[in-house]
Amino acid sequence: MRGAVLYGPRDVRCEERDVPKIIKPTDAIIRISSACVCGSDLWPYRGIQPIAQPTPMGHEYCGIVEEVGGAVKSIRPGQFVIGSFFASDNTCPTCHIGYQSSCQHRELVQGAQAPLLRVPLADGTLVATSEIPSEDLIPSLLTLSDVMGTGWFAANAANVKPGSIVVVVGDGAVGLLGVLSAKQMGAARIIAMSRHPARQKLAKDFGATDIVTERGDDGVARIKELTKGIGADSVLECVGTQESMMQAIRSTRPGGYIGYVGVPHGVELNGEQLFFAHIHLHGGPAPVRRFLPELIKLVLNRKISPGKVFDLTLPLDQVAEGYRAMDERRAIKALLRP
Ligand SMILES: [Zn+2]
Repeated sequence: MRGAVLYGPRDVRCEERDVPKIIKPTDAIIRISSACVCGSDLWPYRGIQPIAQPTPMGHEYCGIVEEVGGAVKSIRPGQFVIGSFFASDNTCPTCHIGYQSSCQHRELVQGAQAPLLRVPLADGTLVATSEIPSEDLIPSLLTLSDVMGTGWFAANAANVKPGSIVVVVGDGAVGLLGVLSAKQMGAARIIAMSRHPARQKLAKDFGATDIVTERGDDGVARIKELTKGIGADSVLECVGTQESMMQAIRSTRPGGYIGYVGVPHGVELNGEQLFFAHIHLHGGPAPVRRFLPELIKLVLNRKISPGKVFDLTLPLDQVAEGYRAMDERRAIKALLRP
């Protein structure tokens, strides 16, 4: 089969790869319906996160189960399934409290930009729909695997409630879906920080009430103006840089909450500054598995359409163009058809 492999900075290729096989009896093999490029794929693509050897890419997936190992009980061939980028047993104490992305037996799922994928811990990781969903829902269902699940966790960790005033830092796909999540959770006001016209428009479609284009001190001043001078109840940090983290911290009101889901790169926090900021800080790799049943229901009932973040669709063979377009911010998120 042909799948995406990253060789080094800005060198991703679609090439012949081994067909994945059942390795452990708890594995499943799924036939990918659609794959996509994640914002976090851009860190190794840009060389910011170096790779040791050619690496199969892709960790967002949904598709039809082809085969299961001998110990798999609840997942069956022929089912349509979605899973998280972290495989989890969903039975250990950490999973029980809803942090499946820190499962005691977690394994990273890798190589989803391909026609077939091996998913470890199939019973714990995969959630099956009762029927095969209609084709037009596939992009939205695919987002639940990571980008939408992560935006949702950002809003959840930031304690978004009906009536909340919310700021979203970051206008990538996760930030935009953070807007959608905050809207779905009943936020009264959603301030999206973006300078990009197409992304501002999508943020508004998803429920943003205000757009702030300023950054740094000016950005903080603008947020204060919009929030009675105190800052927001809930701030979603969806980038992972020092600048974006400080933007989030300084935009939060005393007693407010930050959900941070941008993978931090070079972020350092000052203890004293944090102490006097009086904020709740909660984040990490999203426990997507916790939210999958609820989010699948919202998509199947057509209450949310997170698939709108895909503004570029390419055959898998043109995966390199998908990375390039996202790297150059020509595309918000690229969908790949295997
Ligand atoms: Zn677990």
